[in-house]
Amino acid sequence: MTKYIFVTGGVTSSLGKGIISASLAKLLQARGYRVTIQKFDPYINIDPGTLNPYEHGECYVTEDGAETDLDLGHYERFLNTPTSKANNITTGRIYQNVINREREGAFLGKTVQVVPHITDEIKRNMRILGETGDYDIVITEIGGTVGDIESLPFVEAVRQFKWEAGPGNALVIHLTLIPFLAAAGELKTKPTQHSVKMLLEYGIQPDILVCRTEHHINMDIRKKIALFCNVNINAVVESMDASTIYDVPLLMLKEQLDKTVLTKLKLSHKNEPNLDNWKDFLGRLKNPTSEVKIGLVGKYVELPDAYKSIIESFIHAGAKNECKVRVQYIPSEQLTIENAVDKLRGLHGVLVAPGFGERGFEGKIEAIRYVRENNIPFFGICLGMQCSVVEFGRNVLNLKDASSTEMNPDTPHPVIAMMEDQKNVINKGGTMRLGAYPCDLKKGSKAALAYGKTHISERHRHRYEFNNSYLKDYEAAGLTPSGINPDNGLVEVVELKNHPFFVGAQFHPELKSTVANPHPLFINFVAASLAYARKN
Ligand code: GLN
Repeated sequence: MTKYIFVTGGVTSSLGKGIISASLAKLLQARGYRVTIQKFDPYINIDPGTLNPYEHGECYVTEDGAETDLDLGHYERFLNTPTSKANNITTGRIYQNVINREREGAFLGKTVQVVPHITDEIKRNMRILGETGDYDIVITEIGGTVGDIESLPFVEAVRQFKWEAGPGNALVIHLTLIPFLAAAGELKTKPTQHSVKMLLEYGIQPDILVCRTEHHINMDIRKKIALFCNVNINAVVESMDASTIYDVPLLMLKEQLDKTVLTKLKLSHKNEPNLDNWKDFLGRLKNPTSEVKIGLVGKYVELPDAYKSIIESFIHAGAKNECKVRVQYIPSEQLTIENAVDKLRGLHGVLVAPGFGERGFEGKIEAIRYVRENNIPFFGICLGMQCSVVEFGRNVLNLKDASSTEMNPDTPHPVIAMMEDQKNVINKGGTMRLGAYPCDLKKGSKAALAYGKTHISERHRHRYEFNNSYLKDYEAAGLTPSGINPDNGLVEVVELKNHPFFVGAQFHPELKSTVANPHPLFINFVAASLAYARKN
């Protein structure tokens, strides 16, 4: 029978529920349990696909093409197992399901209400992954902070779920903050007490409290929290600020969070967790023997969460190369023909980021021209790849005003364009190519050498494609289409001959980089940047 763990948050947002959930899952997995994590978000958007990355950070795409919360990226990076559409549910999706059923007449004339209809639908979704039989333990992270109006139906659903599951089958971990008051020189437990009181008001007694803190919490504080919040002393878990998120599983291991959870769920502790590979990764991450500076050219650089998976991919690939990757954010809007050289000086590699819309487009083109002409390693992802095709068209093939039809619908040379069969779909989001697609790599290409194989599958999130009517001209001039979708002939990878590393990918490799499997294209891009740094 599947056991359920719910993770709620109190006091403030941004305490790192996602990382705590992923770390606990990692420990349970390392003990031999099959674990998955799902996130329930209280906002009304059906999914995060249409959310501005400035507001909500990156949109993470799963194998089955769901546009999801970026926490799912953490789950995959920690666990090295794929998530799916079922792993991320929003209030909007819950209401949509209920309202659709109401229109179908499924409620037989009854009044449709938050309790029981919305809470029932939430509980049904909480069980979906558990009922597949693929998991021993399902961890459900509840977005938002307890006490928010919009989280209420979720909290009520957790209460009911726990009661129905019975003792030992479901538990609640509440993540709170123990602030340090500098003036008093003290850690304060009151906000935690209040937050637990609020949960109690909703009928939930948390089983475990994970306390975020900047200073160690001593035994007296632990006793105080235990006494005032009705939990065992070993259920008060300290979560110190860490220098990297990848330390958190080891910190939780030290606090025995995994053992406490297993005992409460009446599960055997099995083996001590096998974390050899994880520790090996941490060792490399913390003891780099070299350093490279890589420019990240993008439109949303003010909010690094917008490029979360890319940043994490650099951390994985850096550790693999025993090399510290310093990422320098370069706002594409500020790049011009005149200043590109200055802004990119001193970089050992340049990554041009994914994105949508015209803003910053010309700046990206300038950056690419500079790195192409100066043999600086280049990696273009999605829009970044499309920009490299436009740049090459304009400056090498002399296709005047070549562009993507996304940026200029009237361009005389639509080298990047929407495919005919997509044009009829009007719904925003509906036209998008989403999720995993296969790709064949050309033998001997840089991409094939990096992957060590020629059949791959990668995730997509875009509308526009390389326009194959220009394919021959590009190939003849040296920009090789080295990755092709075997089903429809669409170009997935381009790379430049006679350049140390110039690779553009139509897909999003950053979505598949994990601690256990750093992405080969990132590994090779960092290695090429390192080689460049050593020579220059
Ligand atoms: N805007 C481009 C497209 O829709 C690229 C999207 C992306 O970079 N994810 O095709």
